[in-house]
Amino acid sequence: MSTVVSAERRAIIQTVREFCDAEIRPHVMRWDEAQEFPREVFRKLGELGFLGILVAEEYGGAALSYMDYQAIIEEIAAADPSVALSVAAHNSLGSGHIHQFGTDAQKRRYLPRLASGEGLAAWGLTEAEAGSDSSGTKTTAVRDGDAWVLNGSKNFITNASVGSLAVLMAVTDREKGSKGISAFIVELDNPGIRVGKKENKLGMRASDTCTLVMEDCRVPSGNLLGSLGSGWVDSMKVLDGGRISIAALSVGLARGACEAAIAYAKERRQFGKPICEFEAIQFYIAEMATDVDAARLLTERAAAAKDAHEPVTRLSAQAKLFASEAAVRVTERAIQILGGYGFTKDFPVEKYYRDVRLCTVGEGTSEIQKLVIARQLLGKA
Ligand SMILES: Cc1cc2nc3c(=O)[nH]c(=O)nc-3n(C[C@H](O)[C@H](O)[C@H](O)COP(=O)(O)OP(=O)(O)OC[C@H]3O[C@@H](n4cnc5c(N)ncnc54)[C@H](O)[C@@H]3O)c2cc1C
Repeated sequence: MSTVVSAERRAIIQTVREFCDAEIRPHVMRWDEAQEFPREVFRKLGELGFLGILVAEEYGGAALSYMDYQAIIEEIAAADPSVALSVAAHNSLGSGHIHQFGTDAQKRRYLPRLASGEGLAAWGLTEAEAGSDSSGTKTTAVRDGDAWVLNGSKNFITNASVGSLAVLMAVTDREKGSKGISAFIVELDNPGIRVGKKENKLGMRASDTCTLVMEDCRVPSGNLLGSLGSGWVDSMKVLDGGRISIAALSVGLARGACEAAIAYAKERRQFGKPICEFEAIQFYIAEMATDVDAARLLTERAAAAKDAHEPVTRLSAQAKLFASEAAVRVTERAIQILGGYGFTKDFPVEKYYRDVRLCTVGEGTSEIQKLVIARQLLGKA
């Protein structure tokens, strides 16, 4: 696999970088402290095509590749991982599920609005009793005439209070276990669905994370997404792609922390010289940069396989596992390089150190990634 970045991708990266410098970086700490979701930024990201990155042109998308997608997420995450998390949930989870498994009519109805940024997508698999055990869904969907009636709740849903629709998994046939779970497109102005608790989080604070509660929530039968009973199986395929975006997010976050630490190490003087002159600091920097590059290579390998329509379950889990754990190591070292100043909100590494903790948990914990990888290798999948 070539690691040379094409001129087209370089131009995309440059556009994202300039956008982040102008519209995101100056406001990162304010949004973080206020837990403010920057809705206006998402409207502009939509105008640039970054909210329909993977969506076909006929549905209003930019029709870019997974290799482009991971590069865009890396770039946004280097500026603000919170914004990258909401962009990723919108693109590869909510919109991605509709794009991968929707009918032509569903795609025509929902994707253009999502791709333009006029609306945002959420995606709900997690529940109070269904976290890592994602097929433990309790939410039900019962057929009533020409509608499905949903009851239950979903936890930790990204974009829940700022989104226009959510793709939600619900049990349609309890007897069939994971093969009795179906997916539904639920518009968030439906009177049967409401936003519950907003999470007060350690990191990723500008990304919106809330509970969604469904009480006799009627959705038209045409909003069944994919075939009846395929919702959980389809969700696992959606997560195969989603995990590439969390890997890319981890790469960007780690790169941001590494760059901040290098800049600081060149400026900060102790014992009469810049601290980057000390071998201990040089070793830290060398290890951090190597972690970032190794994580990117695994992420690009998974993205390239996805673009080639090859199996990606193991590759995306490996990329996500390594990149997220590497990003934890890198941010921890970045704090050490900044000493006491790394512990303050005056420097960006403090925020990367908090934000990174989501990366080893969201879209499947590190422990679950290891199970996925081992099952693939042992032929037990
Ligand atoms: C900020 C944020 C945003 C999120 N966004 C979304 C979203 O948009 N949509 C959505 O559906 N979900 C979302 N999630 C939920 C996320 O995917 C879950 O938190 C995650 O899958 C873990 O589930 P859990 O929190 O219930 O942990 P648990 O499953 O309770 O895990 C607790 C611990 O037990 C370990 N564990 C569990 N089972 C095993 C096992 N079999 N073997 C070994 N160890 C095990 C885990 O690895 C972990 O260390 C989000 C979460 C956060 C924090």
